[in-house]
Amino acid sequence: MHALPIAVVDDRRFDRHRSEEQHPERPERLVAARAGLASALPPAEQVEVLVRAVSEEEAERVHSSEYLARLQRMLRTGWGHIDADTYFCPETEEAAWLAAGGAVELSRALLHGPARRGIALLRPPGHHACPSKAMGFCLLNNIAIAAADSLAQGAIRVAIVDWDVHHGNGTQDIFYEEKRVLYVSLHQSPFYPGTGAPEEVGAPGAEGTNVNIAMPPRTGPPAYGEAFRTIVLPVLDAFEADLVLVSAGLDAHFRDPLAQLELDADCFGAMTTALARHVDGLGHGRLGLFLEGGYDLEAIEDSIAAMLKALQGEELELPTGPLRPVEQEALLRTTQTVGCLRS
Ligand SMILES: [Zn+2]
Repeated sequence: MHALPIAVVDDRRFDRHRSEEQHPERPERLVAARAGLASALPPAEQVEVLVRAVSEEEAERVHSSEYLARLQRMLRTGWGHIDADTYFCPETEEAAWLAAGGAVELSRALLHGPARRGIALLRPPGHHACPSKAMGFCLLNNIAIAAADSLAQGAIRVAIVDWDVHHGNGTQDIFYEEKRVLYVSLHQSPFYPGTGAPEEVGAPGAEGTNVNIAMPPRTGPPAYGEAFRTIVLPVLDAFEADLVLVSAGLDAHFRDPLAQLELDADCFGAMTTALARHVDGLGHGRLGLFLEGGYDLEAIEDSIAAMLKALQGEELELPTGPLRPVEQEALLRTTQTVGCLRS
């Protein structure tokens, strides 16, 4: 089988966003991600996507102009913190605007060619960034800006699957009233940022387009496999998005120092295979992975390699196995809210 070309967004200027103190969200994360990319994807099969700064018009589709102006003023003061977790340095503004612009360019490369599969190795991450607030290491919501741009580019419906271990509260907020964007999150609960209950299903008029699967600590691969088979894939099948974007954080990996879930690299590969089959089944094959969190370097390298092999067509099956009662309950809570909406 001939390997599929993969669109790749990467830029050394993302590495210049750094903290003065020790911080888990550090440039070495991208070095590890690049090592995973290089081991799985020969240069000849990479389609380089040119990275440029996000425009005001693109960013304002999801963030308030007041917030963007306030953020820029703050970032131009040098070194500092926006909140206890979220730092900035003199190069942060450039990196953040390039990361969001790179996200837009990846989604356009998938929509219009030259590739149908892609990955964006972005820093700073984005899924906690709200319409008017930076938080959780995130300044601009890269994937939300890309999804909003896809709608502006003519996509009828866009789906975002978020398997970062934290709930993507920013992405949920941004699209809570938008029925053309499906947001499906699998995350540890209770956990930062405290949002992401299954009962959060979307605003009136958009009910069912926000799906939260709140996993208890120590959840492992079989529960993620079951969540994909019984919730994620059926919901995606019903929605029929023109492209599927993934907040592909790697902090649900068992090695991650910040969280307590127990996924492994093969599980990230298998979830990628499942989504690749889904988009192929829709006939368009458009699937983009966007790096969010993930703080163990070995976990990042191994998981990125597994996801890239899956993007290229190497198939891994979703994990199976017994579920703990707390895992079964977690899936049932979401199944019930999704079921209510359908009946
Ligand atoms: Zn995270």
